[in-house]
Amino acid sequence: MDDELERLAAEASERRLRDRLKVPGSPGYMLQQDTGSSGSTRLLDLSSNDYLGLAGHPAIAEAMREALLTGGAGAGASRLVTGNHPAFGQLEQAVAVWQGCDAALVFANGYMANVGVISAASGRGDAVFSDRLNHASITDGILLSRAEHVRYRHNDMEHLRAQLEKHKHARRKLIVTDAVFSMDGDQAPLRELAELKQEYGAMLMVDEAHSGGVYGQFGEGLCRALGVQDMVDIHMGTFSKAFGVYGAYVCGSQSLIRWLVNKARPLIYSTALPPSVAAGVLKALELVQAGHGRREKLLGSARLFRSALRKAGLAAGEGDSAIIPLIAGTNAEALRISAALEAEGIAAVAIRPPTVPEGTARIRFSLSATHSREELTDAVKTIIRAACPARGGGVC
Ligand SMILES: *Cc1c(COP(=O)(O)O)cnc(C)c1O
Repeated sequence: MDDELERLAAEASERRLRDRLKVPGSPGYMLQQDTGSSGSTRLLDLSSNDYLGLAGHPAIAEAMREALLTGGAGAGASRLVTGNHPAFGQLEQAVAVWQGCDAALVFANGYMANVGVISAASGRGDAVFSDRLNHASITDGILLSRAEHVRYRHNDMEHLRAQLEKHKHARRKLIVTDAVFSMDGDQAPLRELAELKQEYGAMLMVDEAHSGGVYGQFGEGLCRALGVQDMVDIHMGTFSKAFGVYGAYVCGSQSLIRWLVNKARPLIYSTALPPSVAAGVLKALELVQAGHGRREKLLGSARLFRSALRKAGLAAGEGDSAIIPLIAGTNAEALRISAALEAEGIAAVAIRPPTVPEGTARIRFSLSATHSREELTDAVKTIIRAACPARGGGVC
């Protein structure tokens, strides 16, 4: 372990945990412990996934407090044993109505939802077709399923078609994709995916972790926004990002949910979420549905931010989501930019392999509806200065 850790450190690949705190009353900021002293610095937070700024919402905290005082700290057991507090059923019904699905199931978090659903929906003799840039929890679910893991080139429908053709005799076929890719901020071609899945008799699963709350009139996600909601067999989303709380959902047909209750190992063999979390999510769902203004502000900010970086000649990705990557290339360059930003009051972490492909280390900016236009305009200037230390230097 020590040898391997030394190698990671030498390659500027080592990850470390750092203390970070919210600033009470200042959404969009965080406090970071200064290294080697007891002081802390206030930084503009351009790295959290609190897209709608709900994490600090008092109504959510109040709903959680009430449920905590009446329902206790923990659920006490798996939902299949004695942990199935009525708050879960209430939340699942609300999610099913919101998504327009027959039924929904709440999981402890998005990681467990993906691992649980994929390993329950596929097994030996099956094939799972997964975008090369899908989230790690999807990859882990496929590994646990023991199905054949067929990766296709990012958003490349011709490559996917060739793979479907090659594996057309697999017992069951599942295509799985992020709706918005977490490290690039671009979107999956959901309509083409839905057409391919119909043509090849496959199932389609969409992970709305970064699109839920952000797209759709009521924040339902990208499937709804693109009009393909009913063509998707398995919808998955988290309550940890735009919802600002914790937990995740899966929704689809009655049979799917009945199957998962019987087969999804993370649901069966792990203690249920604290009921107070379910109560907080239920309140957050109301706020998400009513969050038209927050969505508009967020997507408007993202458009401005991205186009300002592009105008400065920086590689800021293709999407129009709240995730804006700044591709630095090497680990050292990504770390340099991140440190330069920190020195100027901006928290923006460097994302390195294996989270992203080799040679594409980057800064991943994620915006929130709580950021003001002025904060973001100032931040863009700082970013351009940090990324281009001398004219033509850095990544410019
Ligand atoms: C964050 C994320 C998850 C995991 O969700 P958690 O609730 O944080 O466990 C799953 N899929 C994608 C695409 C994500 O970005």
